[in-house]
Formats: sequence, C-alpha cells, structure tokens
Amino acid sequence: MRVTIFGTGYVGLVTGACLADVGHDVVCVDVDEVKVEGLNRGVVPIFEPGLEPMVKANHAAGRLRFTTDAATAIAHGEVIFIAVGTPPDEDGSADLRYVLEVARTIGQHIERPAVVVDKSTVPVGTADKVREAIATELLVRQVEVPFSVASNPEFLKEGDAVADCMRPDRIVIGASEPGAVEKLKRLYAPFNRNHERIVVMDVRSAELTKYAANAMLATKISFMNEIANIAERVGADVEMVRQGIGSDPRIGWHFIYPGAGYGGSCFPKDVQALARTAQQHGIDPRLLNAVESVNEHQKKHLFELIERHYGGKLKGRTFAVWGLAFKPNTDDMREASSRRLLQQLWDAGAQVRAYDPEARHEAQRIFGERDDLVLCESANAALIDADALVVVTEWKPFRSPDFSRIKRALRDAAIFDGRNLYLPEEVEAAGIAYYGIGRGRSV
Ligand code: NAD
Repeated sequence: MRVTIFGTGYVGLVTGACLADVGHDVVCVDVDEVKVEGLNRGVVPIFEPGLEPMVKANHAAGRLRFTTDAATAIAHGEVIFIAVGTPPDEDGSADLRYVLEVARTIGQHIERPAVVVDKSTVPVGTADKVREAIATELLVRQVEVPFSVASNPEFLKEGDAVADCMRPDRIVIGASEPGAVEKLKRLYAPFNRNHERIVVMDVRSAELTKYAANAMLATKISFMNEIANIAERVGADVEMVRQGIGSDPRIGWHFIYPGAGYGGSCFPKDVQALARTAQQHGIDPRLLNAVESVNEHQKKHLFELIERHYGGKLKGRTFAVWGLAFKPNTDDMREASSRRLLQQLWDAGAQVRAYDPEARHEAQRIFGERDDLVLCESANAALIDADALVVVTEWKPFRSPDFSRIKRALRDAAIFDGRNLYLPEEVEAAGIAYYGIGRGRSV
C-alpha cells in the first residue's frame, strides 16, 4: 500500500521503517530539512536499537523515501499518517499546532481519496478538528475529495520501538467508516498474522485509550515511589516489598520499580493533558494530579539524599553521574530526571562528570559548553576526581560495576543509586556508603 507519514521523529520514523519492511511503499515527510537530508544519506538522527539497518535497507530498496515536499508526499499516500509532536501547552493541555498544521497542508494538496490517520497522541475530539481543518481547505479550493479521519494511537516504547512496532501487543483502530477500518486492517495485516491484535473502536475511545494506557503506567510508577518514600521512613526495603507484591498476577512485575521519577516525552505530558481534558469536562482529576505531584517530588528526591549526606555543603564538590537519558536504550533526554538533578547540583555549586552510553550528543546539544559539566567517554572516566557516584538511568552496563575500583576512584566513597540497581550489603562491604530509593537507610 502507498503510505505517507508526516513527522520523522521516534514514532514516524520507526513506523515508516516497519511498514516499509513488510513491503509497503512509504514516503516520510518532515519540515526539518537537515533531518530529511541526513536520512536520505542514511544518517538516522535518533538512537533506537535495530532502526538504522532497517532504515538503510528499506531506503536502498526504494520502499522508504524521505522528503520535505508535502504536496508530493500527499499525492503518494492512500493512507496518510500524522505523527508529529504534541508538546504540552502552557496550561498542560496538548498543543495541537503541528497536528492541525499538517491537517491544513493535507487539505491544501489532497487530490485523491485517502484515509488520514492520527498517530500522534491527541486529546479526545482531535479527529473532528483534523476533519474540519481539511474540509475548510477543500472548501477554499472549491474541490471535493473524499477522505476519512481515523485514530490509530501508537504504543511503542522508546528503546524497544522497532520490536514493539513489529510485534505490537495490540493495534487500536478508531474509525467510524467501514472503508477506513478495512484499509487500516489491510495495512496492518502483516503484523497481525499469529493472533488477533487489532482492536476496532470508535474514534473517541481510541483517542482516550492512549491517554488511559500512559496514565495507568505513570500511576503505577508514582504509586511505587510513594510506597518507597514510606519504606524509607519506616525502615523497610521497598525492593523486598516489590518482590512481595509483583508475583500477584493482579499487580504484576511491570512498572513497579521505584526510582528517580518518570520522564520522557510521553508520561509527563500525557498525564497533564488527560488531567486538563478532565477539567475541561467538569471532572476534578484528583488521582492524575496526585500522580504528577508525586513524580515532581520524586525527581527531587535523589538530590535530597545527596544534600543530606553532605549536610547541605555541595559547593566545590564533584559528582559522577551515570545515565542521562530518561531511560535505557535511548538517547532521548526529554523531561529526563537527570536534567532536574544536574540543575540542582549546579545550583548548589557542585560540578558534574556525566556518562551516558548514547545520550552524550543530546546532552551536548542541550547543555552546551559549561565549566561545571564534563561529558565523559566512559563510566570509569566519570569517576575520576569525583566525590560520589549518582546513578540516574538503569543502563545494563551499570548493573554490575567493580565496586573496589569505584571505592579507589571516589574521593568520598558514596553511591546514590537512583534506580536501586545494587545490593546495599555488597556496596557497603566494599567500604562505600549506599543510598537507594526507599531502602530504609536514610532516616
Ligand atoms: P518527535 O518530536 O520525535 O518528532 C516529531 C517530528 O515531526 C519532528 O521531526 C518534526 O520536525 C516533525 N514535524 C513537525 N511539524 C511538522 C509538519 N508540519 N510536517 C512534517 N513534519 C513535522 O516526536 P515523537 O516522539 O515521534 O512523537 C510524535 C507523537 O507520537 C507525539 O504525539 C507523541 O506523544 C506520540 N508518541 C510518542 C511516543 C514516543 O515514545 N516518543 C510513543 C507513542 C506516542
């Protein structure tokens, strides 16, 4: 099938590559000329396991093309995806500027019937706005082109995006016109061979499903962080508690890891946007507000542990920070907990030596040159001349370090483990002070 995708970010590029990989003819369009020019040369602008070879192979096979020319791209697609960003507006609601701009562009150029599909995470009612924006442009042009608007929210996880896209848990199709449903079912048939994964519903339910999924996951994290804070005060170890509850299938093991707070481009903004939707419809989103406020507090908690250990005197100290990305296997630092921590350390007059396996360039882009930041080439290099080690992202290579080496390298042997990667006894046996999240050790 002929597919057009607006936006070559984490969602658009991965979707485009996966659809091309199963044989569809995909044109990706982006307003970012540098990105498009790079992609046409085989430069993949984001780190996502398995993505680069997939993009290169399908580009070479002619099934995956990149352009800034929206008119040509629209002429190509019988299915046109909108996968552009929906950042938070000032009041927390989703900013639909980019989505509606794409809708207008589609209305200005569409010549043949097409199904327009919202893949961006958008509030309930957005499909109506997209339909209206396209229809208005058609009216201006005084032409009639049949089109339908469907919702097909994306559930891929950064760091696992290609695998998620190739083997999705479910494919949600929100559409009212049978023709649109059939077209999308045909498009996704190659991903639906082993068992039924497609869930068809009305557009509004599909739009809400995405927010419900992210809000539920964020709720689990904030819940566990609250339990961790209680554990810390009462002298319990939240890691034991986690093991004690995860085996209950009604609770499950996923997303019950306490830590330095959730970040990324989705959970923070989607929880806020859903809360705003609730308010706009006269509902007080008490639970969603609590989820967000627990997370805000949690993002500061690691710093509080550090501050307490040093009696508030952080000026002139140096901290090795392992992990900058908002989670492992990505270079994405949007809303990452590391950003809050670094800012707090800098505000307190401390220096940072940071290492992340993939986010170094992103950190360079975000922070620029600063006297109080050294971006290191390795985890061990970050330890040089540092007082203590702070672990912020749970990258696999950080899981089993040589504690005796860390002890020798650090000036004041202390580890602040923001992801509970280590066994406190093992760290302490190496002569290093240990602080985790909710481990009943910082009373
Ligand atoms: P992103 O910021 O990585 O990419 C967005 C891309 O859209 C950019 O390359 C930008 O240049 C491009 N763009 C903006 N305006 C455009 C226009 N008028 N025409 C063409 N391209 C345009 O965003 P993302 O992380 O891929 O997220 C996209 C959407 O998918 C968001 O709504 C997000 O909430 C949702 N989502 C993201 C994830 C994720 O893990 N990142 C997962 C599921 C859903």
